[in-house]
Amino acid sequence: MGRKNSSENQQKESVQQEQEATVTVGENLREGTIIKGYSGFYYVACDGVLYECSLRGKNRQKKVKFLPGDRVEFSIANGQTGAIEAVLPRRNELLRPPVANLDQLIILAALYDPLPDLRLIDRLTVFAQWNEITPVICFNKCDLVNEAEQQRLAKIYQPSGFPVLFCSTVTGQGIEELHERLHGKFSVLAGNSGVGKSSMMNAISDEWQLATGEISDKLKRGKHTTRHVELFQLDARTLIADTPGFSSLQLPEDIRREDLCRLFPEFLSRMDGCRFATCMHKNEPDCAIKDALAQGEIAQSRYENYLAFLEEVIQQERSY
Ligand code: GDP
Ligand code: ZN
Repeated sequence: MGRKNSSENQQKESVQQEQEATVTVGENLREGTIIKGYSGFYYVACDGVLYECSLRGKNRQKKVKFLPGDRVEFSIANGQTGAIEAVLPRRNELLRPPVANLDQLIILAALYDPLPDLRLIDRLTVFAQWNEITPVICFNKCDLVNEAEQQRLAKIYQPSGFPVLFCSTVTGQGIEELHERLHGKFSVLAGNSGVGKSSMMNAISDEWQLATGEISDKLKRGKHTTRHVELFQLDARTLIADTPGFSSLQLPEDIRREDLCRLFPEFLSRMDGCRFATCMHKNEPDCAIKDALAQGEIAQSRYENYLAFLEEVIQQERSY
C-alpha cells in the first residue's frame, strides 16, 4: 500500500487546504458540500443555506459523477438555486454507501440485546482502514452491562489503538464524547439493526442544532422516501450519514492476503519480529504475532477474525 498511501496523503493535504480556504471562490462562485442528489438536482450546503443546484451541460455530458460529501464549486443563479461548476479532488470514495470524503466510520455495536458481533466490528475496521477512514468503535447500551464487561471489550481493542467509546442513549453516558469525535468531520454510522443507530442519531441531533430550519425540513422530508444517502449537517463542518446496510459487507475485492495483517495495527507494529518476511501468522514458526497472542498482548478474537478474513481473501483471490 506504500505508494498508494503517499499519493493519497498528498491529495488529502491538498483537499484539507482547500476546505480551510474561504468559501467564496470567484465573484459568483461559491464552495459547498453536496448533501444529497435527488431527481436530477443536487442540494449543496454553504454557509448554513441549502442551494438546489443543477448540473451545467458540460458536466452532464462528461457524465461526471457527484456524490454526497463532494466539495463542489457552484454559481448562484438566484435566491437558493444554482449550478454546479466543478467538483474538487476527492480524498476517498465509497461505493456502498455512495459517498465521498469520509473522515470516520462510526462502528456502532450494542453491549447487550443484541450482543456485540466482534467479527462484524473487525470487518468494518478492515474496510475503514483499507479506505483510509478512521474507524471509531462505539459500544452502546452500556446501561445493560456491568463495568467488567466494558473493560473486557476495551482490552480487546486497546492494542489496536482504535478509538473506543462506551455510550448509552438511555443514561447519556458517552454522548458528549461522541459529539466531540463527530465535530468538524464527515462520519458514517454503521451497525446491525437494533444496536441503537436511530436512538443515537436522535440523541445527537436533539442536542445539536441543525444548520438551518430549511436544511432540517428538507432532510426530514427526504428521509422516508429514499434509497438515496442523505447527509445530516450538524453544523457548517460536521456531517453525518445515516445509512442502512454494512452488515453483510464483503471485504474489499482488491485486498491481497499480504495486505490484511497491515490493516490490524497491533499486528503491523509487531510483524518485523516474524522470522519470515512472508509470514501470514498462521502456521509459520517464530511468528511475532502468535507470540504476542500467547502473551495476551493481542486478543484471541482479533486473531481469530484475522484468520477468518485471511481465508475469505484467499477465496476471493481464487475467484478472479
Ligand atoms: P437501530 O435499529 O440501530 O436504529 O436501533 P434503535 O435506535 O431503533 O434501537 C433499538 C432498541 O434499542 C430500541 O428499543 C431502543 O429503545 C433501544 N436502545 C437504544 N439505545 C439504548 C441504550 O443505550 N440502552 C438501552 N437499554 N436500550 C437502548
Ligand atoms: Zn508472523
